[in-house]
Amino acid sequence: MAMTRSIIAAFIYTALMTAAFAASDKQQPPPGAFAGAPPQYTRFSAAELQRGFMALAFGSDLRIGAKPRGIRRFDHPIVARVVASGSVDRSAAMAGIVEDYAGKVPGLHLSLATGATPADIEIQLIDERNFKAALRAAFGDQVTKTFVARTNPQCMTSVKSSAEGEILRSVSFIIVDKGDGVFFDCAYHEMLHALGLSNHDQRNQWTTLNQSRMVGYLSVYDRALLTALYDPRLAPGMTATDARAILPRVVKDLGLASTGARP
Ligand SMILES: [Zn+2]
Repeated sequence: MAMTRSIIAAFIYTALMTAAFAASDKQQPPPGAFAGAPPQYTRFSAAELQRGFMALAFGSDLRIGAKPRGIRRFDHPIVARVVASGSVDRSAAMAGIVEDYAGKVPGLHLSLATGATPADIEIQLIDERNFKAALRAAFGDQVTKTFVARTNPQCMTSVKSSAEGEILRSVSFIIVDKGDGVFFDCAYHEMLHALGLSNHDQRNQWTTLNQSRMVGYLSVYDRALLTALYDPRLAPGMTATDARAILPRVVKDLGLASTGARP
């Protein structure tokens, strides 16, 4: 009987240890998030970050044409431009979102365009009724029809990259006239796509790139994935096999995963 008891005790102990290293430290959304933004977990294990990275940095369910190979991201400082044409002026809010990314992920070297500087990311702020027309103007009838039929998108980003995996230019369309929730969720979600996290993961409960979730701020989880993506060791074009091999070292060196110690 004593033997049985010690086996049970060992089991419980293991379960508790696992829990301690899973997503934890739930916190309220950051100041400035829209009313109704969800709380977030702020500490993740290396395995949770690596799994999300592999799911989101490779492939895209919006892909048209040749299958993109490997990691896609910018390989130089990034300039973003906000182009507002919607009936609700959210230019300042969008500029603030770009600055939020720039400040929280320094590896992006992201800034807002000034004057006539050519932009790497163009962010089009539009009304919902102009969404399809804007897509048609940008991509043509056929591609628009395919996109809309396949995904029934509310907002959208097109990422053009070289055969080597370097992003050449991204264009995002963000709806501004359907309330704060739609705007902030779209804006933060599409920025992740524009920067190279091209995929979605409906089973991942922490990322903004789960289309069943509405987040509307840069979560600790997505920030960690983006920070890893822009580490110099994760180069554009890198295969999934190579990325999987180097990712644990990158996550560890950048201190992205919780180690069990309180911050
Ligand atoms: Zn998306």
